Amino acid sequence: MDSKYNPKQNEERIYKLWQGSGFFNPDKLPGKRKKKFVVMIPPPNITGSLHMGHALDNTIQDIVIRFERMKGKKTLWLPGTDHAGIATQNVVEKELTKEGLTRHQLGREKFVKRVLEWKEKYGHLILEQLKKLGCSCDWSRTRFTLDEGYTEAVLAAFVYYYKKGFIYRGPRIVNWCPRCQTAISDIETKYKEEKGKLWHIRYKTKNINQKYIVVATTRPETMLGDTAVAVNPKDERYKNLIGEKVILPIMNRVIPVITSRLIDPNFGTGALKVTPAHDPVDWKIGKENKLAIINVIGPDGKMTSEAGGYAGLNIKQAKEEIINELKKQGLIEKEEDYIHEIPTCDRCGATIEPQISEQWFLKMDELIKPTIKVVKTDKIKIIPLRYKKILTSWLENIEDWCISRQLWWGHQLPVWHCEKSPTKFVVSKEKPEKCPFCQGCELIRSEDVLDTWFSSALWPFAALGWPAKTNDLKNFYPTNFLTTAADIIYLWVARMIFSSLEFTKKIPFKEVYFHPTILTLEGKRMSKSLGTGVDPLELISQYGADATRLGIILSITRDQQAAKFDERNVLAARNFINKLWNINRFISGTIEQNKSGSREKNLSLTDQWILSRMNSIILSTTSKLENYELGEAAKELYEFAWHEFADWYLEIAKFQIKEGQGKTLEILNQTLRTTLKLLHPFIPFITEEIYQEKNEKNLLMVLDWPQAEKKYINKKIEEKFSQIKEAVTKIRNYRAENKIEPREFIKAPFKLENLQEEEKKIVCELTRITLSL
Ligand SMILES: [Zn+2]
Ligand SMILES: [Zn+2]
Repeated sequence: MDSKYNPKQNEERIYKLWQGSGFFNPDKLPGKRKKKFVVMIPPPNITGSLHMGHALDNTIQDIVIRFERMKGKKTLWLPGTDHAGIATQNVVEKELTKEGLTRHQLGREKFVKRVLEWKEKYGHLILEQLKKLGCSCDWSRTRFTLDEGYTEAVLAAFVYYYKKGFIYRGPRIVNWCPRCQTAISDIETKYKEEKGKLWHIRYKTKNINQKYIVVATTRPETMLGDTAVAVNPKDERYKNLIGEKVILPIMNRVIPVITSRLIDPNFGTGALKVTPAHDPVDWKIGKENKLAIINVIGPDGKMTSEAGGYAGLNIKQAKEEIINELKKQGLIEKEEDYIHEIPTCDRCGATIEPQISEQWFLKMDELIKPTIKVVKTDKIKIIPLRYKKILTSWLENIEDWCISRQLWWGHQLPVWHCEKSPTKFVVSKEKPEKCPFCQGCELIRSEDVLDTWFSSALWPFAALGWPAKTNDLKNFYPTNFLTTAADIIYLWVARMIFSSLEFTKKIPFKEVYFHPTILTLEGKRMSKSLGTGVDPLELISQYGADATRLGIILSITRDQQAAKFDERNVLAARNFINKLWNINRFISGTIEQNKSGSREKNLSLTDQWILSRMNSIILSTTSKLENYELGEAAKELYEFAWHEFADWYLEIAKFQIKEGQGKTLEILNQTLRTTLKLLHPFIPFITEEIYQEKNEKNLLMVLDWPQAEKKYINKKIEEKFSQIKEAVTKIRNYRAENKIEPREFIKAPFKLENLQEEEKKIVCELTRITLSL
């Protein structure tokens, strides 16, 4: 046996051993297993590559599922991937750009084919990486949110909602990315600081001669679409102008001065130009005041025909020309340098141009009620508890969900428009044979696809076969546990709950754990593009999957919002794994040499102590794992295995064996086995490897979880033993301070008070002292 454990040599082999056993599949697990335990993986994007977030998320799931499997449950961890609409489309578009092509040149059909080809090549990489990490998913049940059956589920859900009157079509101001050519959610927009200017522009009043109202804006190009000027009703400066009319420069349109509580009197001049078509706040003001909506910037980021002489220009050109014109007319009162936060597209970085567009919405008011009740009445256990409040308040203020996206990659809406009058449409999974409106036209399918989250909202039941009444749905739904990062609590978790309640009348999972976000050691967000990420795949190749898993878990505690990742934890984990390897080597060697044993049946103080500690640790690890305190459990096991079992019991066992203590061998062996079992969920490879070396018939992964024997837990013994530890530590410190050679025997430097003969003997053995004081 090597003196150092080599993960590279073992991990792949062990993983194959597990896979070959079939035990990842709940139907193939040995034993009766009456209770089930089910986890649905948060499906990673097919564009994904394992990052620290995944590594943490999936290590947690694997720990939980391995623990429950050993507890004798019928465990299913169902894997899969998400088609990730916009992310995947962008990746393939970037490939096309390199070839000098655009998706429009290719056309929709060929483009989708390209994406599918890409998916065949790269879409499974992330799952292969999960295997490297040791994840015990049932790969035979792998799903994809755009596979055939799943598409059935998505279309069925859409048609159902539509028939129930929950889906409607309407104009809405949306965050529009002119590059991606799609509406994107608030959560997918990122704010960036930009140096710009704040222009103060004079709008002449109509009836009061020679008077202006001055508005301040950073986006003068939108003024062509202004339909009002708004001030705060409490603003004394404008009291006499409320209700008056002003003339919009350049366009010479007469527009009213109105009031709105949404206006901040301290921004700029306190008067705001209102462009309902191109700003979300203005959209609200416009709705409240029934203002006209004039679209002057098109979805392609160019000025529309409504922009008069500026039609066809891009935004930057239009802005310059408009400023020049205003200057010429003497309508610029002043311009100031201004740093403002502009919304950008999280995917491509382009500046968001809010747009009015026809979108599809899912009405939330009715749909969300049962979810609010379920969360408020703790029908789902939310860990840490603080997220319950966050979730509830979001649910209570929820807005209708814009579910359509102008993409080519995704679930195309099952909506069929009449070719002759396109505002008329039928909603149906299949293309109707005849147009019900004109009887004669070729129906045209809506170009829109559904928001990716619309399909992932169905994940807990659709991945088990819904809407078909499958055995898996019967056997494994509802699920037990979900863990995810807190940043998708609304995007995903809330939506899974209401979808499940609506379609299955069941709560999709009993417990949800929002784990901490992994930050860099300096407390920065980990990001590949910022170069601040740590690559878990590199960690795995350098230290092994076990060390990577344990190192990550050692970095967290359950209730943290964020955890700083310290690579030294992985190093510590690697050293710990080597220690475990050497503990096993020592114990195997000792057992080999002392086969005959002795007939001694009494337990020494040290034996009693380690049995007490071992059984306490079983209790504590079990309870911590049941409560998802994984970091806490890992730290305790690490301390126990290294600093109690190895440092103390093993050392004392050496001379107990010399003196013929037969029980010692048994206890050594038992403690090692129990420790390996407790550690298995955290570091599955090395623990299985050691077990297999013992020529075990069974795989450790399906052995029974240890049960504590409470009769061995003895606080008095633990107290006594701590006195020995104290004495030994004191003497060792004395030796170190006085630079006494380790081999040299010395006289006891202190009196060993309160210690019995047996205990004194241990102290002497461990510290090389003689008691001739
Ligand atoms: Zn974009
Ligand atoms: Zn028709």
